[in-house]
This record gives sequence, C-alpha cells and structure tokens, in this order.
Amino acid sequence: MTGREALTEKRESQGVVSRPHGDRLHEECGVFGIWGAENAARLTYAGLYALQHRGQESAGIVATDGVEFHHHKAVGLVSDVFAGSVLDSLKGHIAIGHNRYSTQGSTLLRNAQPLVVDFREGMLALGHNGNLVNAVALRNELEAQGSIFQTTSDTEVILHLIARSKSTEIERMIPEALARCQGAYTLVILAGEKLIGLRDPRGFRPLCLGKRGEAHVLASETCALDMVGAEFIREIAAGELVVIDGSGVRSCPALKPKPARACVFELIYFSRPDSEVFGESVDLVRRRLGRRLAEEHPVAADIVISVPDSSNSAALGFSEASGIPFELGLIRNHYVGRTFIAPQQVKRDFGVNLKFNPVRRILEGKRVVVVDDSIVRGTTSRSLVAMLRGAGAREIHFRVSSPPIGWSCYYGIDTPNRKELIASSHSVEEIRKYLHVDTLGYLSMDGLRACVSRPDDHCYACFDGKYSEWYGEPLDKLAMEQRASTRLEGRR
Ligand code: SF4
Repeated sequence: MTGREALTEKRESQGVVSRPHGDRLHEECGVFGIWGAENAARLTYAGLYALQHRGQESAGIVATDGVEFHHHKAVGLVSDVFAGSVLDSLKGHIAIGHNRYSTQGSTLLRNAQPLVVDFREGMLALGHNGNLVNAVALRNELEAQGSIFQTTSDTEVILHLIARSKSTEIERMIPEALARCQGAYTLVILAGEKLIGLRDPRGFRPLCLGKRGEAHVLASETCALDMVGAEFIREIAAGELVVIDGSGVRSCPALKPKPARACVFELIYFSRPDSEVFGESVDLVRRRLGRRLAEEHPVAADIVISVPDSSNSAALGFSEASGIPFELGLIRNHYVGRTFIAPQQVKRDFGVNLKFNPVRRILEGKRVVVVDDSIVRGTTSRSLVAMLRGAGAREIHFRVSSPPIGWSCYYGIDTPNRKELIASSHSVEEIRKYLHVDTLGYLSMDGLRACVSRPDDHCYACFDGKYSEWYGEPLDKLAMEQRASTRLEGRR
C-alpha cells in the first residue's frame, strides 16, 4: 500500500468521507449575488433556479438595503422554498443566494445557507461553495478557545475566523481569516452595504461577474447570468476578492496565488453545458471529450446514445468523430430530482426506471455505443445496461468521457468512500464484466488533458489521487487535519 492509499484508507476509517450516497457524484453548491437591483431577491431567486443542478436539498436568500438583513432559507428545491409571497418580504437592492446539496437529513436545515451572523462590525451573510480540508483542526482550535458553533458546517469556521480578525475593514478581515483556511472556497458575502465575492487561491470552484443595467451580479456559472439577463463581464480570478458597492466594483489583492487547480469535473459533468466555466464553453469541452473518446476507443456500431442529460454533448462529439448516428435511446424523467427522499421501497422496486426509460424502437437489434460522463460505483451503469438489453440492444459498447474515478474528492464534491469507487479496486476488464457490456473504454488522462485549454491549471485528483503534492503539504499533516470528527460536515 502506498502512503497515499494509506492516507485515504485512514480518512475513510475515521469517517471523514463516509456519507450515504447514490451512484453519481454531486456538486455541493451554487452561489449567486446581486448589487443595485430594485428586485434583488427576485433576481437571486431566478439565479438560484438556473443553478439548481448544483444543489437540490436546500436554498436560501438574504437581502438587504444596507441596514437590515431579511432572510429565508429552507429544505427543498428553489421553487418550493420561495413559493408564495416569501420573496416579497426579502426587501433591498442587494442580495445573495445559495443552493446546497447534502445527504445528512438531521442537519439539513441547520446547515442551510447563507449563514447570517451579527458581530461587532454589523450584519454579515455568507454563502460557500467548496470544502475546507483543514476545517476540523480549525474548529477544534476555535472551540478550545471558547467558540460555540451553531452548525456542523465548515462554512461557520470561516465566519468565526472573520469575527476574530484584528482588522476593522471587511476587505482586510476576510483575507486575514482565509489565510488560515486550506482547500476549496468560492464565497459570496453580504457585509453592510457591500457585496463581496472571493475564490480560493487555487480556484477550485468557479465564480463569474456580470452586469445587468446598473446592477452587478456574481454567480457560480454564466447560465445564471443568462437567466437574469446579465451580460458576462469576466471570471473572478483565483485568490481575488471583489467588492461591489455604491462606487462600483473594486478588485482587492486578497490571497497569495498558488498553482491553479480548477476542478476539471466542472467541465466533465457538474456545470451546465450552456455555461462558460474556467474560460471554456462547457458544451465544447464535452464535445471534444467525446471526439477524443471515439478516436481512442473506436468500435463498429449502428447508433450512439447518451446517458442524458450530462453526457449529451460528449455523445454528440463521439457521433461526429465516428460517423455513427446519434439517437435518443434513453429518455430521462426530469421530475425525479430528489430521488433520495423517495421511499426506500419505491427505489428498490423501480431503481433506474425511476429516472430513465429506453426507447425500444430505436434500440431493438442495434449495436449501441452508450456514452456516459463517468462511472462511480458502477451500480447505475449496470442497471442501465440491463435495461438497454431488455429493450433489445444487440451489442452494448460502453464509453466513458473521463478516466476511471479511483479517488474521493475533498474539495467540495460529494464522493463515496474510496473503496466504493469501482475503479479503485477493479481493472477495466473487471468493470466490463461487472457491467455486462461487450466492450468498455475510458478516456485516457492524456486525452482529458488534451481537451481542455489549460491542462496544467486543473485538479485531476479523483483520477490520479494527487492531492498532497498539489497542496504541497506532507501527507501526515493532511491526515491529521482530516482526523477524528464526523460531526463536522465538510464538503459542500
Ligand atoms: Fe474536481 Fe475531482 Fe479535483 Fe474534486 S478531486 S476538485 S471532483 S477534479
């Protein structure tokens, strides 16, 4: 066992990455903020609606006129949380919003964001996308010094550190606090009359700036700017802090730059294909992944189908490069969002049928290439294959537009324990047999790197396990910081 494997096993035995989980990776938050719009809360609602794919378990909005903070957050989809006249009570020309993914029912509402506090410099609200890898150590230290925590979320650690800052200007307090934090954090913050956006020095999670008339907008993805009719201005740089107030947008030098590690999975799967993320069109990257996949793993077949919706662009790319026609062989039920709350019996009885249905007329007697963006545990892929065979597919050639996922993510994506990732312990041939497919091909790491514009600026840790080298921290230190506590719910 290598040192890295030992570290991962240790983390898992300590419960650091143990959570109930489905067979997909989950993004764990979308953030949105707007300054200078009469109906700031309504526009934030629309922005969160466009970012619903980034978190479907709770949503919250805080609005202010610079004096009073009005907030509402609850468990549920954006449209449920803000049904009725709730938005009318969220008055003010400044607002931030947050969508959250979580699997821990008991802590769901308590950890819903934005978190709002009243401290010596006034009211502050904060929404976080990412995960602090040293949150446990920081929380232990803060608690030893008398801090009392209201949530089990690592985001609250950031609030405590801000409140303890010796500075009095919020533009200084925030970087001072975050200088102690390691890991992934994209933040939107309301402080008095200021809207603040910030990305960690490695830029794991995206954040963009837009303009809508006189109003300025911050959002996880550009699809949220489109939703509210805002024009894309630029991405917030890694380590950059922007302050938006009555005098416009100011960029403050915040955190010492580190080598960029933008999450490559945002491009493969998490972000919407109609978004621009990390300077790339998500759709175009996915098409390139599909084309490259067809070059690396050619096969004689009659049709190419996608596992909708996240694999559509890659399947189209595969079809373009191979000349094999793209067909809609699987239809997705879009109304099965929060399948985790479906009664267990329903899930057991219907499985993937809840989410997908095959089109028999298209599949019957065909040699089918199935393009999916990733395989996590393999259980869903196996069920899908059985469904396609049941619908008459003669041959099934499974193609994956990313390399095998063999490592858990610690930077804001909910992944199962490493031992539950099928590629951590099975060869491609063993996975092929498990899925019961005729052939199986994954995109290579070289192929993935060739499909993004700045290959050296991305994190690939869930494919190659290179966490610590890229953090530049000794393994034992990282292990120590991850230690001991399952009460601190990390990733979001
Ligand atoms: Fe993204 Fe994977 Fe890195 Fe997590 S480990 S940030 S999912 S590339």
